[in-house]
Amino acid sequence: MSIQVLSPEVVDQIAAGEVVERPAHLVKELVENSIDAGATRVHVEFYDGGRIVKVIDNGKGMSPEDLPKALDRFATSKISKSDDLWSLKTFGFRGEALASISSVSKMTLTTRRAGDEQAYQLISEYGKKQPIDRVGGSQGTTVLMENLFENMPARLKFLKSDAAEHTAIKTTLKAMALAHHDVEFRIQENSKLVNFWPACKDRKERAEQILEIKPLFVGEASREYVKAYAVFADPHNVAKTAKNIWLFAQNRWVQDRSLQAAVNEAYRSLLMHGEYPIAAVWVETDPEYIDVNIHPTKSQVKFHDPSLAFRAVAGALRATLEKAPWIQQSGQLRSQSQFGEAGGTVDYSDPAASYPSAKGLPNFANYSGEAGVPTEMPKENLAFQDSTFKTTQFQKKDFSFPASSVQQPKVGYHALMDAAESREEHSSTEAVAPVSGGYWSSLEVLGQANLTYIVTQHRDKMVFVDQHAAHERVAYEKLMNAWKGGKIDIQDFLFPLAIDMSPEKVEGLLLLAKDIERLGVFIEPLGPGTVGVKAAPLFIKEAVLGKVLDRMATEVVDQGGSYSLERAVGDICATMACHSVVRAGQALSHDQMKNLLREMDHFPLSSFCPHGRPVSVEYPFYKLEKDFGRIV
Ligand code: ADP
Ligand code: MG
Repeated sequence: MSIQVLSPEVVDQIAAGEVVERPAHLVKELVENSIDAGATRVHVEFYDGGRIVKVIDNGKGMSPEDLPKALDRFATSKISKSDDLWSLKTFGFRGEALASISSVSKMTLTTRRAGDEQAYQLISEYGKKQPIDRVGGSQGTTVLMENLFENMPARLKFLKSDAAEHTAIKTTLKAMALAHHDVEFRIQENSKLVNFWPACKDRKERAEQILEIKPLFVGEASREYVKAYAVFADPHNVAKTAKNIWLFAQNRWVQDRSLQAAVNEAYRSLLMHGEYPIAAVWVETDPEYIDVNIHPTKSQVKFHDPSLAFRAVAGALRATLEKAPWIQQSGQLRSQSQFGEAGGTVDYSDPAASYPSAKGLPNFANYSGEAGVPTEMPKENLAFQDSTFKTTQFQKKDFSFPASSVQQPKVGYHALMDAAESREEHSSTEAVAPVSGGYWSSLEVLGQANLTYIVTQHRDKMVFVDQHAAHERVAYEKLMNAWKGGKIDIQDFLFPLAIDMSPEKVEGLLLLAKDIERLGVFIEPLGPGTVGVKAAPLFIKEAVLGKVLDRMATEVVDQGGSYSLERAVGDICATMACHSVVRAGQALSHDQMKNLLREMDHFPLSSFCPHGRPVSVEYPFYKLEKDFGRIV
């Protein structure tokens, strides 16, 4: 066969394979068009596994002259020159969605602008346009797509079951609704109304609507020119898959492994194996630092500096997670005796004042509003915390790790200290102010149950604390803090310890040798498949060093960046902590229990052990009263 230029129809059909891989994709394109047209209400109907889709909007509509052009390839009203690609304000810009969809379906476009006396309708069958008709219709645009892929039987076979395609459409619509909280969505599946999401005042409210969890918490962070905003559930509310991690870049729903890893990273040590966070995260950056045009479905983006995006996202979640707003109450921050008279204006000792609802969800009483952080904390108290933590940090020896007597530290403290300071994203974990606001120490210890649980009461509930999990968390945070503060002792090896691993991993590790040094591990090449360890932190036992490095190398090869190294350290610390603390089955004196609770006040995230198990379980008195039949 000689070389021929393909006819426009064939080109459209080939391209349609990219843009309209599945009905869910075309639904996304149609809804994005509605939103680009300024719609405040979008109504989506789908039938027949997505082979029939109708999208009705109240947007600005099209002129009768533009109507046929809308179906032409690379015809768009949204950009005119390539520079525009870097300052996009619309979702569409490629001008190929309607062309592609209409080449593989029967499409009926009905549109009416605000000033027009009637609506105009254009019908196209597999790319063949009929003359425009005048019809009745209200302002906005309705796109009806039918007979999808009926001219391409081969593609029909690629569609999954009706149920699977419908699920994909519904997922896409959830994402669209999350991205556009100010737009009302009505969703009909096979003529049945399945979702109605009225317009909301903000992203948090929309997320609560879509994810069906309340309350959700909010966190924000920026790293240079990248901003992240996160809305997420507390770590008690988890999913079995990563499907409930919703990611948006420039408000576009994206699939991005690195951002997803950032979300998981933020929840590190809060979730158990096989548990996934529930979170929606928006990343914004200057348009010049992001490319949204790397794939026809626009589901992927490329950041100029992906590590900034990673850190902004992890930071946004972490900032709030560390404050564990689901467990503390802002009132307590001021009711602590340590703050003396500072907060004397409101009497937080009156339970009714703190818990107006008394519905058994007192923890959330103060967090129904904005960000899940006690923003109203007075400045004096913050100052107080800053000055105390310096003196209380690591003075006690009770949960200490191996002392420095064994060998002399090789790199001192200062090298590691500098490293710690350069890690801006961890500033909050380094400062071990009593972040829980004195919650744990305010629990009244009643005794120990089954040699495992500390039984306490607090205002309107009983609180059971798992002694092992709690102690483990405290030991873990101490290790991590010591590590970051450069207070870890380093052990020199007389002969480098040889560790075998794949050449690829060796290379990956050596590339990051300087970063690894900051974590106290000094390595050198010993051969293509061997790394030599010259020195390592004392608390990592020689026997596990190989495993630790291998794990680091795997992560380095997979992801790169020192952030993952830190996670490796976190894992080591978790293991260490687990083996160095009180176990279940050990009798504790009243004072030991009080001490442990007091220690917990000094660390963030104390409500979970490093493996993600909860540290405490609550039993509200109202429940007890219910069980006793005192109330119904
Ligand atoms: P793009 O969105 O990339 O511009 P499309 O093929 O999706 O390309 O749409 C082509 C053009 O049709 C758009 O630029 C817009 O002018 C017009 N259009 C499509 N859908 C709508 C709608 N719902 N309301 C108003 N105009 C629309
Ligand atoms: Mg479009």
